[in-house]
Order: sequence, then C-alpha cells, then structure tokens
Amino acid sequence: MVKGGGVSELLFSSKGNQTNVGLLKNEVGSCMKCSLARSRKKVVFGAGDIAARLMFIGEAPGYEEDVQGLPFVGEAGMLLSKIIEAMGFKRDDVYICNILKCRPPQNRNPLPEEISSCIEYLYKQIEYIKPRIICGLGKFASQTLLDTKTPITKLRGNWHEFRGIRFMPTFHPAYLLRNPNDKKLVWQDMQKIMKELNE
Ligand code: URA
Repeated sequence: MVKGGGVSELLFSSKGNQTNVGLLKNEVGSCMKCSLARSRKKVVFGAGDIAARLMFIGEAPGYEEDVQGLPFVGEAGMLLSKIIEAMGFKRDDVYICNILKCRPPQNRNPLPEEISSCIEYLYKQIEYIKPRIICGLGKFASQTLLDTKTPITKLRGNWHEFRGIRFMPTFHPAYLLRNPNDKKLVWQDMQKIMKELNE
C-alpha cells in the first residue's frame, strides 16, 4: 500500500497504473477464453512505456512474436522500429500491442469470436495507459477499433477518435514490406502524429 494514500490514490497514481497493467498482464498470461490458447507458444501482451503518449496497435502476433512473447519483433516489426526511430523515438518510448494477444495458426485472419474474447483486454490496456494518440496499424486494427468497414485506404491519414483519444490509422508495416512505394504515405501519417504530439 502507498504510504499516506488510500486505495483511490494507488489506483490512479503512476504506481497504481503499473499495478493495473501488471495485474492485467498476469490475467492475460493465463487466458483460456478462446481456442488460440491451445496453439500459442507465448501470450503477447504488449511492450513499451506504460506511460507512453503514443500507442501503436497491430493485428495479432505472428510466428516470431509467438516464440518471443513480444509484439512486432519479426520482419514487419523491424520496419516498425525504423518508423518509430525516424519519428525521433525509441521503441521503449512508445507502447506497442495488438488486437489479439495470441497467434492465429498460420497467421490467418482473427475470427470474430477470438476478437470478442480478447478485445476487453485491449480496452483495459488503453484505459490504464491513457495514450494521447493511438496509431492503428493496418486495416484490421483500425476497422476493429473504429467499428467500421471503411477501407484502410480511405481511413488512413485522417484523424479519428477512439473513446476520446485521437486515432490515426495507417498502413500495416507488413503491407509496406510488399508495397514499399506506400512508405511515403505512412511517413505523412507519422508526421501528423508528431505534429499533434508537439502541440
Ligand atoms: N503483425 C502484427 O499485427 N502484430 C505483431 O505483433 C506482429 C506482426
């Protein structure tokens, strides 16, 4: 217990935030709510600064993430790291997580029942971390959080809102590996984020 403080002080202090995120991580670590629990190697909760002003949200862990238990550590992750560094940050300065915390077999698209089992974890992560800006990486994360079927080509580059938080959809780094010409569009989106963070 925090000296001189009550339960509410603990819950809303930065120490409390650490506690909340830590407790949530433990809960997610033993989650058996959907069938992905049986095929996963490791749960990929999220990584980075839990007091970050900028949060990146992707789709789901891939092969390398499942092995290491960390988000965006494969080829797409290396590109994401480069983007973050080009913005003047280190990976540790931001927070990175996914809609799904466990890898779908063969990296297939997440199923509706997997999303509904998992999404509350992400909502809590966002609530505790309270980023100033969320960047949705790709169609899946952006459409899920904005509750829309609008194509990512139309969503990206424009400000949206998720529960009062500014939300910028952009292309997924894995898409950029296949379509490097669109890197310049992502860089435009990142510049909008940087400008907003500097205001
Ligand atoms: N793609 C994602 O959407 N998330 C990861 O963590 C890795 C690849």
